[in-house]
Parts: sequence; structure tokens; C-alpha cells
Amino acid sequence: MSANDEVLLDEFARIIANSTRLAVSTGAGISKESGIPTFRDAMDGLWARYDPEELATPSAFQRNPKLVWDWYTYRRELINAAQPNAAHYALVELENLLPQVVIITQNVDGFHDKVGNRNVIHLHGNIHRTKCADACKGEPTYIDLSQIEWNQDAGPPLCPYCKKAYARPDVVWFTEPLPSDALRQAYTVSRKADVMLVIGTSGLVQPAASLPFLAAEHGAKILEINPNPSTISNIATIRLEGGAAIILPKVVKRVRAYKKNSDE
Ligand code: NAD
Repeated sequence: MSANDEVLLDEFARIIANSTRLAVSTGAGISKESGIPTFRDAMDGLWARYDPEELATPSAFQRNPKLVWDWYTYRRELINAAQPNAAHYALVELENLLPQVVIITQNVDGFHDKVGNRNVIHLHGNIHRTKCADACKGEPTYIDLSQIEWNQDAGPPLCPYCKKAYARPDVVWFTEPLPSDALRQAYTVSRKADVMLVIGTSGLVQPAASLPFLAAEHGAKILEINPNPSTISNIATIRLEGGAAIILPKVVKRVRAYKKNSDE
């Protein structure tokens, strides 16, 4: 690490240590070092020829429910076999060090909850949950897959309530609206934040990508961790280039030291 990197890292940590209302926006990049591919990585093996933007849509599910269901089953199994990484754990420590930390995530892997973060807004749902595609008993109508039997090679089961629509993953697909409560909370948190830390998102998926801009308009400092430039990089006060699982623990170590010194 060069002297310049050290200076940036110190300044980055100092801004976080002084935050009283920290918003953290996370995307697929924070789970990359857990072995979960981002959407813009080439998918492995069998799935390499599919474009997620064409699979993760309501029309893809209508056209070919089995294809979409199998892709989500594959992704869920990948997530189940993986573990949260040092970046997820570093955010738990930040929550313990600072007066207020709210995570706004686009991820559906549930890792922030798994490590014990208490304040998590899920913008794009949860891959571990299943719901009726027709929301037959209201949105969302959850389905407990462990309670139904069906031929798993044939694709998704029918909803056990209406027995007409298919079961589908409780995730937000491209072209679908976000859960309104989660979105409302995310806007409020972004407007009120004094600092927004943006980790591992390309900033290409709306409306999540607009949140750092909203926060900046309301006076928040924007900090970014990402190995590559994103649409948010231009408004970042400091961007640290690299993987979140390497960089974030270093940042949090410095935040802890700042807090300790200021308490003494
Ligand atoms: P994205 O795939 O568009 O972008 C990923 C970003 O992460 C890129 O900017 C990349 O440079 C960065 N990145 C790669 N490795 C990194 C690392 N080690 N540390 C930090 N950053 C790293 O992802 P997105 O912006 O989250 O948006 C796409 C959609 O993908 C979202 O809707 C999300 O729901 C979905 N998605 C979620 C998961 C998951 O839950 N883990 C995985 C894949 C896709």
C-alpha cells in the first residue's frame, strides 16, 4: 500500500468515524469474495450463455417458467453453499461503533441478516423466499416450499392456495416495481444520511442507483469501495479501489481507533 493509499484510507475512515447517520448502499460486489458472481460477471458453466437481464424478468418467467426457476434454484444453491465474507462482518462492527447505521441492499442473498446486522432495507427481495406469481392472497403471498410436494424436474410448483399461478422467487425482476415500504424507507434514510458508503454496485440498476445522488443533494458525503469505476464514482468524495473484503476491514480498524482516541 502506498503512502497516498494510507492517507486516503485514513481520511475515508475519519469521515465514517464522525458520521452520526451512516447509510450503506450495497450491491452484488460485496458478496463477490464469498464466491457469488455479480450480474456483470460471466456466469459459470451451464449458465454462461444466458443474460441475467433477460432471465430476471416477468416476461422470461411467462415464456419459460422452468428456465427461470432452475436459474434461481442454481443461484440459491450457490448462496447456500457460500459464507458471508470479511466485508459483511466489518459492517456488523460498524453498526456497533456508530450511533446509526442503515444498510440499503440490492442483494438477495440475505448475508447482511445472516451476520447479524440489525438495520437492513432489502430493495430487491430475498432469494430464500417464494411467493405466488399472482399474489392470490395479496402481495406478497408467501409459499413454504418445504410443505409442498411436486416434481422438481418439471419446474416451479403451482401455488398451493390458488392452484392456478406458479410459485416464483420473492425477488424484484427487471421492469417490476420495488416493494413500496422498502423504497420509501430507503429514500428517507438517504435524505437524512450525513455519509453514504457505497460498496460493490455498478449503479446501473434504478432506482437503487439514484440513492447516492439523493443523499449527496441533501448534503451527505459519498464514499465508495469498488475495484472499478461506477456511475456513482463522479460524486464520491473518496473512492477506494479494490475488493470490499480486503478494504472494508482496514477501514473499520481505523474507525475503531478513531473512536477509541476520541473517547479517551
Ligand atoms: P452489478 O453486477 O451490476 O455490479 C457489481 C459491482 O461490484 C461492479 O461495479 C463491480 O465492479 C463491483 N465489484 C466486483 N467485485 C467487487 C469486490 N470484490 N468488492 C467490491 N465491489 C466489487 O451489481 P449491482 O449493482 O448490485 O446490480 C445488479 C443486480 O444484481 C441487483 O439487482 C442485485 O439484486 C442483483 N444481484 C445480486 C446478487 C447477490 O444477492 N449476491 C448477486 C448477483 C446479482
